[in-house]
Amino acid sequence: MCMKIDILTIFSSMFGALTESLIGRASQNKILDIKVTDVRLFSKDKHKKVDDKPFGGGVGMVLKPQPLYDAIKSTGVKKKNNLYKNPYTKPYVIYMSPQGKTLNNEIVKNLSKFKHLVLICGHYEGIDERIMNYVDEEISIGDYVLTGGEIPAMVLVDSVARMLPGVVKEESSVTNDSFYNGLLDYPHYTRPIVFRGHKVPDVLLSGDHKKIEEWRKKEAYRRTKERRPDLVKK
Ligand code: SAM
Repeated sequence: MCMKIDILTIFSSMFGALTESLIGRASQNKILDIKVTDVRLFSKDKHKKVDDKPFGGGVGMVLKPQPLYDAIKSTGVKKKNNLYKNPYTKPYVIYMSPQGKTLNNEIVKNLSKFKHLVLICGHYEGIDERIMNYVDEEISIGDYVLTGGEIPAMVLVDSVARMLPGVVKEESSVTNDSFYNGLLDYPHYTRPIVFRGHKVPDVLLSGDHKKIEEWRKKEAYRRTKERRPDLVKK
């Protein structure tokens, strides 16, 4: 199955990063179909303006509704997703916003089930509130404010893509990752055996796979308890 992701932005050149590494390969292998659309192309303003001053006064600019609305429509969105019986097959519209639900592994897993995501990147003071009538969900990447939604959109694409079969070669490298099973990942080592006096734990050199697995489980639990006691409680 190929997942389609439409990204609506006024800074399309920022998305070069998505052509690199595993995400780039996933696009070449037709697992992911990422389309970056410049919202400016939809502006009906003769100067291709996409922002304007806020009603009521105040600082900053707001992204106008018309170019955004037309850009959303161009992706094939017809109505809000929750109106559909089987929503995973319909486009799901997400506005990257510091006011949304904070992205976590559960949300990422759920988003990876959709066939088509549409990500809206805001800028300046944000987008005209009336666009929320066409948005299924707002998602934040954390309690801080960035200048635009492009980096948050890339974070979302990268994390969702890792969940798609075939993107990461070994599925176990995803299922052993931090958060997947509610714990942080265990520590990893590679050659040499001794680095500047620091030796790799003996058990990893023992060749005893049962013991290695037990050690990894214990380490994952120990780390989680130490660094993220909230996860252990859950
Ligand atoms: N005035 C807005 C507020 O306080 O909620 C912040 C606007 S921010 C400067 C501009 C754009 O960056 C937002 O419209 C959003 O798309 C994006 N953005 C900023 N911080 C973000 C975050 N933590 N998560 C997701 N998107 C974010």
